[in-house]
Amino acid sequence: MAISGSISDPTSTRPGTKMLGHVETWVFDLDNTLYPASSQLFAQIDTRMTTFVADLLSLDRQAAKDLQKQLFHEHGTTLSGLMRSHSVNPDAFLGYVHDIDLSGLDPDPQLARLLAALPGRRIIYTNGSVGHAERITARLGIDHLFHGIQDIVSSAFDPKPSHAAFRRFLDDHDVAPDQAAFFDDMPHNLLPAHDLGLATIWIDQKSDWSRPGGIGDHIHHRAESLTEFLHRLDMDRTPHDG
Ligand SMILES: [Mg+2]
Repeated sequence: MAISGSISDPTSTRPGTKMLGHVETWVFDLDNTLYPASSQLFAQIDTRMTTFVADLLSLDRQAAKDLQKQLFHEHGTTLSGLMRSHSVNPDAFLGYVHDIDLSGLDPDPQLARLLAALPGRRIIYTNGSVGHAERITARLGIDHLFHGIQDIVSSAFDPKPSHAAFRRFLDDHDVAPDQAAFFDDMPHNLLPAHDLGLATIWIDQKSDWSRPGGIGDHIHHRAESLTEFLHRLDMDRTPHDG
């Protein structure tokens, strides 16, 4: 049967919604997609980015926060903006902002089981660093389940939602876009995926960060959490009495 959003979800019954039986490569954003925003992990990263900007440019916190948001909106990530405008060393930035406390994040055996049940390959595509992705997935207990990680370094510091970066990602990992699905908590990151032919799933974390660009026809499916969506997929794929 069809995979779709919840009954109240307007995207669930939209004509042209792609089904996912054809998918052989599953591509996941990391932050606020593979773990819930309620863990406050990305909030820690956000705070450290503000501190980095404040220290770098001798700004007070509000001015640093305003600049950080401006760089994010103009360049896709705070880092890209800092590299272009202020010649920041990316390793120094990535090491600093990802040095966060993971104690608020619990292992997620249900997510591990559902990811393992997906047929085909699983790949992480993040605007963060490989080291950060490895730490997070080890903490969740899902690090053994991924066939590759594309990070901001292997993306040549060209962040999502760049179409060129997305094409590079597909080439680097030999992904056939018409046999792939992409999950991200930011609707605008789903746009290049949609345009290149992937099925798109929005993990709606209800955060302000996820709102730039709004939502639109480039979103095929919506879910409130990755686990919830994968559970629905699993139920549809697995024969059960009923
Ligand atoms: Mg994210």
